[in-house]
Amino acid sequence: MKVLGKYKKIIVFSATFVVGAFFLSIFFLDSKKVEISNISGKEKEVTEGKIENGESIKKEENLEEKINQANGKEAEENEGNKASEAGDKNEDSNSSSITNKLVSWGYEKAEGRKIDAIVVHSSYDALGSDPYSVSGLIKEYKEYGVAPHYLIDREGKIYRLVEEKNIAYHAGESKVPDGRSGVNNFSIGIEMMNTKSDNYTKSQYSSLKSLIGSIRNRYKIKYTLGHNQIAPGRKDDPWNFDWNKVK
Ligand SMILES: [Zn+2]
Repeated sequence: MKVLGKYKKIIVFSATFVVGAFFLSIFFLDSKKVEISNISGKEKEVTEGKIENGESIKKEENLEEKINQANGKEAEENEGNKASEAGDKNEDSNSSSITNKLVSWGYEKAEGRKIDAIVVHSSYDALGSDPYSVSGLIKEYKEYGVAPHYLIDREGKIYRLVEEKNIAYHAGESKVPDGRSGVNNFSIGIEMMNTKSDNYTKSQYSSLKSLIGSIRNRYKIKYTLGHNQIAPGRKDDPWNFDWNKVK
């Protein structure tokens, strides 16, 4: 029995060891599982973090794009400003360049109209004290609801009152030699500032010549005529006009 007792002790010890090892191994495996799940959790977090970062990067990119677009617009606007500044400068340094004085009456908007005629007129401010007042003459056009595309003052300065693409009311009832009436529809009207008794200045002729040249470069012009030629009997302007000076 004593020997058996000895063996019993060993058996009990071994059994305890085996059971202990079993539980230990379970515990060990469990903790590993936890670790694994932790790792996958971290991975998930990291991945989500990346996605979030990715999105935030995208957001930043979008913002940057917007900023760039805004900057682009600004840049364009700045260029526009520069261009208009340059235009103003040209107007100051060159008397034959054009100054915008666009009016809100005396024309109708048009797109893609065919232009093949130039009509030359003359007029002065008959209502004010100074017949050669540009603002006075434009005011007079307003009262009659008329406007030319261009007005050339005594110094040869060219004012644009109506854009060329639009139909300006300068000719009235009129007809060109090929029989077409309603000359406003296909013409550009130019007013030369002059009274019935005065002569045109040299700079007026020179500006008119360059303006006609520029129009002829941009359109296939069939007729360059005076108002008196398209509305004979009704109109007698341009008064005292020498056509040889613009040929
Ligand atoms: Zn006229």
